[in-house]
Amino acid sequence: MIIHKFGGGILKTPEAVEQMLRIIQDIDLPTVVVVSAMNKMTNVFEHLAEGYFYDNRWDEEYEEIYRFHLSLAESLFRDRAGMWDRYLEPLFGELRNQLAREREDLFDQAYDRLVVFGELLSSALIHAVMEERGIAHRLLDVRGMIRTDSTFRDGNVLWPETTGQIQEMGISESKELWLTQGFIAANDSGAPVTLGREGSDYTAAIFGHCLDADEVWIWKDVPGVMNADPKEFEHTRRLDRLSYLEAIEMAFFGARVIHPKTIKPLHNKSIPLWVKDFDHPDDPGTQIRQMEQLEDEVPAFILKKDQVLITFQPRDFSFIVEDMISEIFAALHRYRVKVNLMQHAAISLTICVNADDAPINGLISELLPRFRILYNTDLELLTIRRYNRELIKRMTGERRILIQQLSRRTARFVLG
Ligand code: ASP
Ligand code: MG
Repeated sequence: MIIHKFGGGILKTPEAVEQMLRIIQDIDLPTVVVVSAMNKMTNVFEHLAEGYFYDNRWDEEYEEIYRFHLSLAESLFRDRAGMWDRYLEPLFGELRNQLAREREDLFDQAYDRLVVFGELLSSALIHAVMEERGIAHRLLDVRGMIRTDSTFRDGNVLWPETTGQIQEMGISESKELWLTQGFIAANDSGAPVTLGREGSDYTAAIFGHCLDADEVWIWKDVPGVMNADPKEFEHTRRLDRLSYLEAIEMAFFGARVIHPKTIKPLHNKSIPLWVKDFDHPDDPGTQIRQMEQLEDEVPAFILKKDQVLITFQPRDFSFIVEDMISEIFAALHRYRVKVNLMQHAAISLTICVNADDAPINGLISELLPRFRILYNTDLELLTIRRYNRELIKRMTGERRILIQQLSRRTARFVLG
């Protein structure tokens, strides 16, 4: 069995939905097809959740979400009014009920309660189109199958419960196409929990793992995993094969290849992952599997923009030792600030983080009494895998290098 995932990056237009339906009809059964929220809907839902929680207003975002789905429905449905009323309107009704509810104490829980509608609407719309076209399938609510703890916005999967619930459905023994949502799940009491942004790749891997699938295919708007982001670099090329380890490391260094959590459940059962080109389904794409190393030594480049360097210096001039590092890291963990790179010296610790990590300000004000804090903004973090001197020279050029770290296979630079 092959599990397929279609993400919001490709599900943007009626034509894209048609293309997805074409691909789906050639898929061997049984299969699970995982879809995420369409286009950039999750971003709009995030704003909706913020407006709801902090300002008690959300009309604009609600309108935008409504109009986006309506315009897709207008192109895709034959019986527009009938299908909309039957499949989409009830979800909008539910969403309105959620927006009328009293807020919970913590933002993250309110966020999950609302943001899941991106995936619910997307799967309902595709379900409805498939119904109308007579494409046999079954729609599953993934919240009844993937069980997590109550870490809202970053749920940890409870594997025994999840495996049990997924296996109970009889998917493997069926001859059917099962359509479901990525990214969303539920905790013990049935409250919605999301798996972290871009988490629908991870959902596909969870199904792959629990169902002992032969392969997992992730459909993307690129020819596969590239050795660099074509939007940032010239002369990029597809990597035909990658090891699990290489894929994890590339994701860790910031390549938007696949969600970093995706690999582990597949690796544990040696299930190959394919990244396939949505516009050219017959092209091979990239295969990620158990492998000693890359077959050819293609260098890979990963660029993260909008980086900030933050340096912490103890105000009393004491050495940065383990207890201070743990104090700083405990705060980073509490504020969920992700560290992209760090460097530590006698009386300072420097971290490189994304500028748009909103909680940075909270973090800084918490640590300010104990530490002098310096920071540099507008930086880029460049990672070169399988570097050589030549490449370093070419890529860093005349730019100001604030930090450089070289290991055996990886060179990293914070550039001004
Ligand atoms: N819709 C979610 C997001 O945009 C999950 C995903 O697309 O994978 O983050
Ligand atoms: Mg996505």
